[in-house]
Amino acid sequence: MRTYACVCGNTLFFDNSLCQTCGREVGWCQNCETISAQEPQGGTDWVCMTCNTTNHKCENYADWAVCNRMVPAFEDESLCDACRFNDTVPDMSVPGNQEKWARLEAAKRRLFYALDRLGLPYGARDDGIDPPLSFAFMGDPVDQGPWRRMDDAEHVYTGHANGLITINIKEADDAAREAARVDMNEAHRTLIGHFRHEVGHYYWDLLVKNDPVKSAAFNDTFGDPENPDYATALDRHYQEGPPEDWRETHISAYATMHPWEDWAESFSFYLDMRAVLDTAEQLGLLAPRADAEQENVDLMLARYAQLGLILNELNREMGLLDFMPQVITPPVADKLKAVHAALWDARRGAMAA
Ligand SMILES: [Zn+2]
Ligand SMILES: [Zn+2]
Ligand SMILES: [Zn+2]
Ligand SMILES: [Zn+2]
Repeated sequence: MRTYACVCGNTLFFDNSLCQTCGREVGWCQNCETISAQEPQGGTDWVCMTCNTTNHKCENYADWAVCNRMVPAFEDESLCDACRFNDTVPDMSVPGNQEKWARLEAAKRRLFYALDRLGLPYGARDDGIDPPLSFAFMGDPVDQGPWRRMDDAEHVYTGHANGLITINIKEADDAAREAARVDMNEAHRTLIGHFRHEVGHYYWDLLVKNDPVKSAAFNDTFGDPENPDYATALDRHYQEGPPEDWRETHISAYATMHPWEDWAESFSFYLDMRAVLDTAEQLGLLAPRADAEQENVDLMLARYAQLGLILNELNREMGLLDFMPQVITPPVADKLKAVHAALWDARRGAMAA
């Protein structure tokens, strides 16, 4: 991620919708791919002050303030290139849901930014990519009071199925999410982390599942997903917990549950690493990579570990959780290389198409 500049000279950030210095409204312009000041033209028209494109505000920006993207007027679309992937959005009549939805959209925009930087394919229903990608942001239908145990049918599970990523909007409640993190003994639990994990399942479906060569390579590295099957593995994980020595072979305790979760956890870490390295380079904290280093996972890992050491110490100074709690053993590095290889192939495919 990089920073952007307002016409007044102030620095703008990816999540901004207002310049704090000059008071101009700002938004992501799809044409120049920057956060730019937008000049009102009367009615619903705005002009991007960077590239002069006439834009409209995304409907979720104009109506709900959960988005900061503009849509080029000629496109005749009400939703931006991130919001159009929504299948289900939170019930706005429920108090607090606007804030939760805004946090979810901010994390989702960051995910799309990273996927675009990596040149990865994804598509909505009309784009001809199978499975199409979509998102459902849903709350549990019944408020969970202390007197009432909800059965499974009433609970929204965060997960992925056939391209649909469902996120329980409770995850956007900081107190609830931190309680879940402690309860599940996780090093981190974040909204962007949920998106990166679930989109990992999406890419498994898109890139690995129906490709015999990639499936065989997947089984070699992560294990056979049919033996044991997912339901059996899930039961075992929640009854027995992870093996004592999981750190030797897995990126997280949850990754030990099943090969699909191992892939999704490795995928999520890979996106973390790429996003952090990208940001560190864009903001001048790391020198830009030489071409030869560009696609070498060992070198990426070395740079990330070097940065992680410094950021861990900075976080400790501030009493925060470790920035990079993971230890990358050789088996974990092999899994990250497998993720990288699958994405690299997909990227070449997307460029050729
Ligand atoms: Zn400004
Ligand atoms: Zn523009
Ligand atoms: Zn939008
Ligand atoms: Zn998962």
